[in-house]
Amino acid sequence: DYGLGEADHEVRAIIDKEKDRQFKSLELIASENFTSRAVMEAVGSCLTNKYSEGLPGKRYYGGNEYIDELEILCQERALTAFHVDREKWGVNVQPLSGSPANFAVYTAILKPHDRIMGLDLPHGGHLSHGFMTPKRRVSGTSIYFESMPYRLDESTGLIDYDMLEKTANLFRPKLIIAGASAYPRDIDYPRFRKIADEVGAFLMMDMAHISGLVAASVLASPFEFCDIVTTTTHKSLRGPRGGMIFFKKDPVHGVDLESAINNAVFPGLQGGPHNHTIGGLAVCLKHAQSQEFKNYQNQVQYFSSLIRIDARRFLMIAHVCTIVQVVSNCRALANRLIEHGYKLVSGGSDNHLVLVDLRPSGIDGARVEKILDMASITLNKNSVPGDKSALVPGGIRIGSPAMTTRGLGEKEFTLIADLIHEGVQISLEAKKLVSGTKLQDFMKFVTSAEFPLGEKVSE
Ligand code: PLP
Repeated sequence: DYGLGEADHEVRAIIDKEKDRQFKSLELIASENFTSRAVMEAVGSCLTNKYSEGLPGKRYYGGNEYIDELEILCQERALTAFHVDREKWGVNVQPLSGSPANFAVYTAILKPHDRIMGLDLPHGGHLSHGFMTPKRRVSGTSIYFESMPYRLDESTGLIDYDMLEKTANLFRPKLIIAGASAYPRDIDYPRFRKIADEVGAFLMMDMAHISGLVAASVLASPFEFCDIVTTTTHKSLRGPRGGMIFFKKDPVHGVDLESAINNAVFPGLQGGPHNHTIGGLAVCLKHAQSQEFKNYQNQVQYFSSLIRIDARRFLMIAHVCTIVQVVSNCRALANRLIEHGYKLVSGGSDNHLVLVDLRPSGIDGARVEKILDMASITLNKNSVPGDKSALVPGGIRIGSPAMTTRGLGEKEFTLIADLIHEGVQISLEAKKLVSGTKLQDFMKFVTSAEFPLGEKVSE
């Protein structure tokens, strides 16, 4: 039995190159993070060898004594990490990722062609919330269910709750989905609940992006107001790639969510759970309960307790404060971008991401993404409200979780805003030098030896 280095040089070399890329670049993709060595050890363990279809104590395979112990531990930690009452809530930790978790919920509580409402993708929603274009039903969630998106108020960049309410009353959805992939503000759960109740809909929150911030109580908890909460496990939560579904134990609209959701995951949509992921998730959820994790997500709480304590504890807490934080870093980034004159969707950020509307600067997200990529600054182009094209959208999305994990603080995030600004300036200069107007012409030119700013970018 050989290690990877001896068994497969090609894969070893590719992993080494990717590791080097991750190590050397500024990773600002809002949905990414660096998980811990402990999580990676669990994910790379013998747990991957085992089949365990079913739930703890009710498996279709033998030899699951320890897998049962692991899955129960993971469930317990999930409920504790999100501060939910285990009399009222249960959790399924088997979904393979976020999209399968969402689809499992829909198949659990809806019939084919029942109606759903989620935030439109060009306004910050996710594909799996029923995305379709006027020409095409893109996601399985819009092929098998009838989808009517709600949107942002373009003048404020905030969810247009009034319009959502009006549309819901006309469309009468069976499920309303809260949650987003590119929304920089906290969510008004009581308002969502009111609208869902008016039309007799289930209310689901997909907290994939913000689950780390919810666990650390930095953002409002959706559990008080929603019937179902889904999440990925690899974004701000900092775990392995995976998904979870939390459900109310009491029936909702006459549906026993616990059995409907468990059956939808298996045997409805999946076979054997990925036990190595469940192992990594259990490790991550233990960490998510720690003071260190809370400090990682937010700083504000700590400054307030700093004032109240005696000299010795002041020193101790002051030490804790040196751990840098996701939310305060994101604010530092947002503030500096505003100082540079950028327009941010919604005017700022409450969470881990900012959405920059580049249209007033005379450039698009695709070109800026490319130039920054060449300078080892990784972020993604993103549509902003009012955009016409998803391939050449008007904005970029920038997130703070990954580089906060790497130890950067507010000072460095201010510098990152300066570097992004420089990248935008270079993109504007490059755009002027390109002969054609198509994005392809731009990409070809900036990656060629003729690009006179090539050296400047790699600096
Ligand atoms: N839900 C939201 C809000 C997301 O942002 C994402 C991914 O970015 C997902 C679900 C899907 O997760 P996955 O890529 O694991 O399927």
